[in-house]
Amino acid sequence: MRLRYKIEITQPMQPIVSTDVVCPHCGETFNLEVDTSQSEQDLIEDCSICCRPINLTIRCRPGEIVALAFSQ
Ligand SMILES: [Zn+2]
Repeated sequence: MRLRYKIEITQPMQPIVSTDVVCPHCGETFNLEVDTSQSEQDLIEDCSICCRPINLTIRCRPGEIVALAFSQ
């Protein structure tokens, strides 16, 4: 008797989501890539226009950003 296994190829979850962030220093919008595999994260990202650091608090679900806030 032969057993057949159905092999399901599942796409790996894409954890990197890109979002637009408005810099609180210069008001310009730049693109930020967020790793959504971490549900809550604080990070310091340098603005790509004025290069000043931005403190961000980001809450995520796998594959999507739930909330993004500036922290001082
Ligand atoms: Zn800026």
